[in-house]
Amino acid sequence: AYVEHKLYAQPQPTKVYYLGPMFRYANVQAGRDRQVHQFGAEVFGSSDPAVDAEVIAMAMDFYHRLGLKDLELHINSVGCPACRSVHREELHKFLESRADKLCKLCQGRFERNPLRILDCKEEACRDASLGAPTTTTCLCPECAGHFRRVKSYLDSVGIKYIVNDRLVRGLDYYTNTAFEIMAPDIGAQSSIGGGGRYNGLIEQVGGPSTPGIGYALGLERVLATMERQGVQFPGGHQFDVFIAALGDAAKERAFTILNDLRQAGLAAEMDYMGRSLRAQMKYAGKFDTGYTVIIGDEELNRGVAVLRDMAAGTQEEVALDNLREMILTKKQEEKK
Ligand SMILES: [Zn+2]
Ligand SMILES: [Zn+2]
Repeated sequence: AYVEHKLYAQPQPTKVYYLGPMFRYANVQAGRDRQVHQFGAEVFGSSDPAVDAEVIAMAMDFYHRLGLKDLELHINSVGCPACRSVHREELHKFLESRADKLCKLCQGRFERNPLRILDCKEEACRDASLGAPTTTTCLCPECAGHFRRVKSYLDSVGIKYIVNDRLVRGLDYYTNTAFEIMAPDIGAQSSIGGGGRYNGLIEQVGGPSTPGIGYALGLERVLATMERQGVQFPGGHQFDVFIAALGDAAKERAFTILNDLRQAGLAAEMDYMGRSLRAQMKYAGKFDTGYTVIIGDEELNRGVAVLRDMAAGTQEEVALDNLREMILTKKQEEKK
């Protein structure tokens, strides 16, 4: 799509995301659905290591907001085509004497794509490749510098990671950063998302040479992990604020407050059905409202409103002019 719509002609970088069904055409194993849903995000046009860190930070933030725990972030660098050919040669040399110990599949990979042997799950291959040269030991100065800076950006925002030198990509358009987010699974760990840089991809599909990095997660995998960890779906109110107004003057003022709160990004509602105060409160309760603002003519005359925290059942008087700030502050505190 990036190539088709010539997005590279727009100011760079280009950031896109997608969410949609994906279909597996290969044989589907038991317990795996043929149709899965994938969410992904990509950034094209910049090879700045800060972009790598930004994409990783976004992914980690997403999982943490869902409430997932005990995640491990694995990162690695697979370098550029130049680093790769050095690594390929070194790896080939290393595995030559051990080739007969590899699994059938990897014996076939040995000439074509020895890199894939590093992420083979067969124990024989794991043993045979123990101590093999890693991609990071073969990086050219530029790629080594890129990887170092990705790590220091992650450090700077407190994101913990494990450098996993077995995290490699089989396809040639992948470059530099590779990452995978692992969650504890029954007896092992399983990946709940990952991504990496593919500076060679756009060119390969017929576009101008453009750096890119992407991240994707399978929603079904994430949901299964949430279930295993007993994580509840983040609650979230349907209405952040409901304004209960009593009397015509109060209603007019309520309308301007409503508008003001919405401008501030809050999901706010008020009554348009002429309900009594009691009925308005009941209505607000039905929609899992965070705060209710109550204004009658008496409050209006004094320039105040009653702000009720629906969950806590507490309320206080707040000056109308401070209402918006007050609600935003309370919502901020809620998040902590
Ligand atoms: Zn390189
Ligand atoms: Zn193998």
